[in-house]
Amino acid sequence: MRFASLGSGSKGNATVVDCGSSRFLVDCGFSIRETERRLLRLELTPADIGAVLVTHEHTDHLRGVFPLAKKYNIPVIMTAGTSKAAKAPSVPLTLIDSHSPFVFGDVTITPVSVPHDAREPVQYIFSCRGLRLGVLTDIGSITPHVVDEYSGCDGLLLECNHDLQMLQNGPYPMALKQRISSPWGHLSNDQSLALLESIDLQRMQHLVVGHVSLQNNALEIVKGLMQEVDSKLPSVHYACQEEGFGWLELKAS
Ligand SMILES: [Zn+2]
Ligand SMILES: [Zn+2]
Repeated sequence: MRFASLGSGSKGNATVVDCGSSRFLVDCGFSIRETERRLLRLELTPADIGAVLVTHEHTDHLRGVFPLAKKYNIPVIMTAGTSKAAKAPSVPLTLIDSHSPFVFGDVTITPVSVPHDAREPVQYIFSCRGLRLGVLTDIGSITPHVVDEYSGCDGLLLECNHDLQMLQNGPYPMALKQRISSPWGHLSNDQSLALLESIDLQRMQHLVVGHVSLQNNALEIVKGLMQEVDSKLPSVHYACQEEGFGWLELKAS
């Protein structure tokens, strides 16, 4: 199993998950042209994508989903709430139950409902050949359900959105500051660290920090915080808005 990102942050997100004979895009927050350009960096074209899984309807996750699905006839998978909020057009669409795992090819995909200010948001965990990869961004607070589900992953893309002090002292309007820091907003660095301290990291091969705010966070702060857990982690990577990150491979033990 391997994974990579076309870009991560409030201007656009798309994660590529490659497992067994199946390849998925989790979200597509970029235009078709930009998606094609970014896929090429991973030596892929849209024709290589078996399905697009959508986490929620915010533009930084949805922008390119339907245009890409239409142009290349790629199936789209999302919750009913997300499809309503996203006003899904006529594309090949599969609606999922936000609490029921489903199988696609040789991969079991577990949607995990998360508190975020969207209609029916989920994040995803991919299980294939004994390996588990979690994607967890756009979540305002850590729930016991999230701790249970994300324990024991071999790979994890985790949001470290903001430094609370930078957000509070930063340039955003008060309403937006409150939205981001609310229990239905985004994880602060401290919340992400608390999650890492409460889940089982024994199997973790690659942790990727993502959805880092360009305005309200600084990589040095995140890197400093990660030192508190990095003795438990073999490798920590940082996804960025423009480059995302290149292929990371998870190996069966
Ligand atoms: Zn987002
Ligand atoms: Zn969002």
